Amino acid sequence: MDNCIFCKIAAGDIPADKVYEDGDVVAFRDLNPQAPTHILVIPRKHIATLNDLRVEDEVVLGRMYGAAREIAAQEGLADAGYRTVVNCNEAGGQAVFHIHLHLLGGRMMHWPPG
Ligand code: 5GP
Ligand code: ZN
Repeated sequence: MDNCIFCKIAAGDIPADKVYEDGDVVAFRDLNPQAPTHILVIPRKHIATLNDLRVEDEVVLGRMYGAAREIAAQEGLADAGYRTVVNCNEAGGQAVFHIHLHLLGGRMMHWPPG
């Protein structure tokens, strides 16, 4: 997607503080962190929202969670715990329309979320 900021980050055309990448997914620190550790995990493939995920994309969603698990361990979050969030569309709080998983940790999370 030409005008997608996360496609550009995945391609290396826009700088980001990357913490992980492989053939399927890229992870980088959020520009406006909501917790001491706030990392976004994205697929290299442009998928706009969770609504647009096809059955054949479910493998890459699994890869995103696999990467989140590895990053959480690297960041020292695994034992204390952390939160993963995928926002969908306006009411879900989605602002960037390239699907992404938020990995948040380093503080106590609250429930219900805002
Ligand atoms: P959403 O609200 O769509 O679930 O989350 C989008 C996230 O992307 C926000 O937390 C926002 O801070 C982050 N973000 C937006 N633009 C950029 C960017 O150019 N670089 C980085 N690293 N994060 C971004
Ligand atoms: Zn994209």
